[in-house]
Amino acid sequence: MSKMLEDRVVIITGGARGIGKEVAGLFVSEGAKAVICDVNPQDLENSQKDLSANGAEVMALQIDVTKADQVEDMVNKTLDKFGKIDILINNAGITRDALLMRMKESDWDAVLNVNLKGTFNCIKAVMRPMMKQRKGKIVNIASIIGLMGNAGQANYAASKGGVIALTKTAAKELASRNVNVNAIAPGFIQTEMTKKLPEASKEAMLKLIPTGKFGQPLDVAKTALFLASELSDYITGEVIKVDGGMVM
Ligand code: NDP
Repeated sequence: MSKMLEDRVVIITGGARGIGKEVAGLFVSEGAKAVICDVNPQDLENSQKDLSANGAEVMALQIDVTKADQVEDMVNKTLDKFGKIDILINNAGITRDALLMRMKESDWDAVLNVNLKGTFNCIKAVMRPMMKQRKGKIVNIASIIGLMGNAGQANYAASKGGVIALTKTAAKELASRNVNVNAIAPGFIQTEMTKKLPEASKEAMLKLIPTGKFGQPLDVAKTALFLASELSDYITGEVIKVDGGMVM
C-alpha cells in the first residue's frame, strides 16, 4: 500500500514533545518530510534524533511562533531545503491557569500570544507558497476548552476559541485556492501539559469522559493525518473533537 503523505512537506510547531512530536512521528512514517520547530532546544534536538532514526528527513528549527520574523525565517528555510510546503500543523501551545480574579495581565498576554497570534503568524507565512501551488492543508490544534470554556482558563479558552474562529475565516479566504483549513479540538490528552494538573481534577475530569479513559497523543495525530491527507479534500472550516465523547 502506498504511504498517505509520500514526499509531502510538513511544518509542525511545538514539535519537540507531546502531541507535536507524535504528529511528526506518524507523518514521517507515512512518507512526509518534516520540519519541527520549538522554543525548547534540548527537547527539539532529542525529538529530531528520534524522528530521523529510521532515515526520515527531519529538520529542527529553534523558533518562537510569537515572533513573525522567526516564523518567516522558518518558512524560508523550509522552502530552501525542501522546495515547497504542503502541510502546516499549528500545535505550539501553552497554559497559564488562574481564576479571572487572580489572572495577571502577563499570563493573559503570554497565552494569547503563543496560542492565537502564533497560529496567525504561521498561517500568514505559509499561505503565499500554498496559494501559489494551489494546494495546501492547514491543521490548527484548538481545544474543547475553546468550545465550552473552563473555570481557571479564561486566557486559554479565549485563545482556543479564537483559533476556531481564525480557522473558519482562513478556510473561507483560502478555499478558492484549494487550501483546506481545519481544527482539531482535543479533550484531555496525556502529555506534559496535563501531567501538572492536580490528581483531584484529573479524577473529576475522567468522570466526564464517556469512554472512561484519557486520550493519547496518537489519537490526535491520527486525526491530523486524516485532515492533512487527501481523505479530507472536501472538508474545510471544520472542527473535529478528539475527546472520548466529553463534549457532545
Ligand atoms: P506540550 O506542552 O507537551 O508541548 C507543547 C510544545 O510547544 C512544547 O515543546 C513547548 O515548548 C512548545 N512551545 C511553547 N511555546 C512555544 C512557542 N512560542 N514557539 C514554539 N513552540 C512553543 O503540550 P501538548 O503536546 O499537550 O499540547 C500541544 C497542543 O495541543 C497545544 O496547542 C495544546 O493547547 C493542545 N491541547 C492539548 C491538550 C492536552 O490535553 N494535552 C488538550 C487540548 C489541546 P516548552 O516546553 O518550552 O514550553
